[in-house]
Amino acid sequence: MSEWENNVRKPEPYTPGEQPKDRDIIKLNTNENPYPPAPAAAQILKDFRYADLRLYPDPQASDLVKAIADTYSVKPSQVFVGSGSDDVLSMSFLTFFASDKPVLFPEITYSFYDVWAELYGVPYEQIPLKDDLTIDPADYMKENGGIIFANPNAPTGIFMETDAVEKILSENPRSVVIVDEAYIDFGGTSCLPLIKKYDNLLVVQTFSKSRSMAGLRIGYAIGSEKLIQYLNDVKFSVNSYTMNRLTILCGAAAVKDTAYLKETAAKIIKTREHSKKALIRLGFEVTDSKANFIFVKHKTADAKKIFEELKKRRIYVRYWDKPIIKDYLRITIGTSSDMLKLYDALEEILK
Ligand code: PMP
Repeated sequence: MSEWENNVRKPEPYTPGEQPKDRDIIKLNTNENPYPPAPAAAQILKDFRYADLRLYPDPQASDLVKAIADTYSVKPSQVFVGSGSDDVLSMSFLTFFASDKPVLFPEITYSFYDVWAELYGVPYEQIPLKDDLTIDPADYMKENGGIIFANPNAPTGIFMETDAVEKILSENPRSVVIVDEAYIDFGGTSCLPLIKKYDNLLVVQTFSKSRSMAGLRIGYAIGSEKLIQYLNDVKFSVNSYTMNRLTILCGAAAVKDTAYLKETAAKIIKTREHSKKALIRLGFEVTDSKANFIFVKHKTADAKKIFEELKKRRIYVRYWDKPIIKDYLRITIGTSSDMLKLYDALEEILK
């Protein structure tokens, strides 16, 4: 090691799911939406003035902020946007978790949380899930420097009802509580109405899943004006221009089309419920997912082996070689024809 390397920050980075260049695969590994984004955004792309790219974008991303605020009936000053919810969550860790006390989050959850905590030097405690893989609100009633959890949780897909979320909030007036609702539109109920009552609640959502725009990179947070102001102060201390011109315009057009979101989410929910039954028939145990993926464990067959065999058949799902979840696979819900091909492949593998 060269001497200068002693002065280098060396995080253990998050590993995103594989993004193979090959398009000729069934891609059920990163919770993308199998349907195209709202048609309104396509027109924006066509009409976009290429020459405008010489200009910086609006650092406040006002058009997008306003469109999101209108959609959720809040003030623009209650909305923060970023380049994917990863950016929004990362900024939130940096802004709100500055205490010496540990930030609490589930042991099994989005595996980026501990990466940000390590990178920013935030002390943290990972709270085990219950045996049935649910989060117990009672575990979040101790002293802490902040709380974050995904709802529905990832990769279990299990949803926590709003009254349980409120229990955590009412017991934690001294902490910022962040609820990561990346998958909320697939059958859960958002805890967004609680922001009226709790000025320490930040709700984070994304355009990557229910809005089919993972490639555009838009995430947002909604909360009290005070929370959003704090977030903006940190953002403008890191990078003023996180959202590019094209993304701001496409996002603002797409978010208005809530009918389209509901229609595609309903299709995914229908396929998900069907796929739960199909996988149970194939000998899997299946969690009660309210997300656009299912989390499954076969009664006898090895998860890693199934993962590898599926890959040989050009079907990509997600597997983590990690304690507690090493017997599970996370399978994104694709179109019903994708899922039929998955069942056929599984049947063959399990023979
Ligand atoms: N939160 C959770 C729970 C996720 O699974 C993901 C997707 N990997 C994200 C946030 C980030 O998604 P994006 O940055 O695409 O908005």
